[in-house]
Amino acid sequence: MSTIFKQIIDKKIPAKLVYEDDLCLAFNDIAPQAPIHILIIPKQELKTLNDFKKTDAELLGHLLLTAAEIAKKMGFDKDGYRTVINTNQNGGQTVYHLHVHLLAGRQLSWPPG
Ligand code: AMP
Repeated sequence: MSTIFKQIIDKKIPAKLVYEDDLCLAFNDIAPQAPIHILIIPKQELKTLNDFKKTDAELLGHLLLTAAEIAKKMGFDKDGYRTVINTNQNGGQTVYHLHVHLLAGRQLSWPPG
């Protein structure tokens, strides 16, 4: 069965798109944890960070560079932001299609819970 994110990629369910290119898609998180909470996902179906191989290094780098580009375009690069990839149960992953959380717009606490 396809994940909710695959359905967003296939435009079967709506999402508030922030950015799209051949490799990835970025859209607003449906339950934002900060004033800005964007998810960046690869169009390729990879479940977790554990599934990435050395040959996927460029794609993984592209997701992070896309986060930085969005931050710059939206004007919160200087104030700062956080990028997070949750992996499996202890990491708090709930959707098994790898995604980078991009959080900004307030002072984020550390360490995370
Ligand atoms: P994670 O817990 O790291 O797997 O993150 C999954 C994220 O996906 C959560 O922050 C959810 O709020 C978000 N989410 C789930 N369904 C949707 C959806 N349909 N559109 C946007 N974000 C979603």
